[in-house]
Amino acid sequence: MKPFVLSIGMLFIFFPNMFDSFEVNKGRDFYESTGNVIWDIPTEEKLIALTFDDGPHPIYTPQVLNILREHGAKATFFVVGENAKKFPGLIERESAEGHEIGNHTYTHPYEFTPEQLQDELIRTDEVIYNITGNYPSYYRPVGGSYDDMIVSTAVHSGFRVVLWSWHQDTGDWKRPGVDKIVNKVVSGARPGDVVLFHDAGGNRSQTVAALKKIIPALKEEGFTFVTISELLERNAIEVTE
Ligand SMILES: [Zn+2]
Repeated sequence: MKPFVLSIGMLFIFFPNMFDSFEVNKGRDFYESTGNVIWDIPTEEKLIALTFDDGPHPIYTPQVLNILREHGAKATFFVVGENAKKFPGLIERESAEGHEIGNHTYTHPYEFTPEQLQDELIRTDEVIYNITGNYPSYYRPVGGSYDDMIVSTAVHSGFRVVLWSWHQDTGDWKRPGVDKIVNKVVSGARPGDVVLFHDAGGNRSQTVAALKKIIPALKEEGFTFVTISELLERNAIEVTE
């Protein structure tokens, strides 16, 4: 036994970060081909999925919902469990107005073990289920991080992982200015896009103001605003594992 123990010890001395190698990320092409992780979808139909992370928020979420309702637009809200628990009426409204609710963890942690992630997902699921009577099908990782651990934990918990189109990251949380947010989305809009916004996590008045311009502009171009589920129904990608 002694030589074995010693050699393990030596490994730690020479490779202190050896366990980092377990954070395997096989890249977009691989995960996309499994159908378990979605960035956007190939389609020629002018469909677009607006998504809002981190809510609900008592000031901004109702404003976002009002704009969506005014234009008959559907969206997906990736909610934080503890916020959902605090503001169940907003989750109820999102659901009642035809929007989709996704899971964005319970406490929005940036670091976690597989067990902690699973716990975050389950707790959020329970809150959403208790309000809407439905369990979410989609999970958006905090910060958009994905690797083997995150994807397999999500898949084993019954989720598909939803990220966003690389050209549709509005950066709205940095408050870059309303026009910048508008231009990013409108000038880059392609059928099948998934757009990333935030309806909480700070002052989101720029997001709200931008949305008031984005939706009519894209409607004018013939786009329809759909939930993630509706978008995926138009996609031929199937889950292979
Ligand atoms: Zn977030």
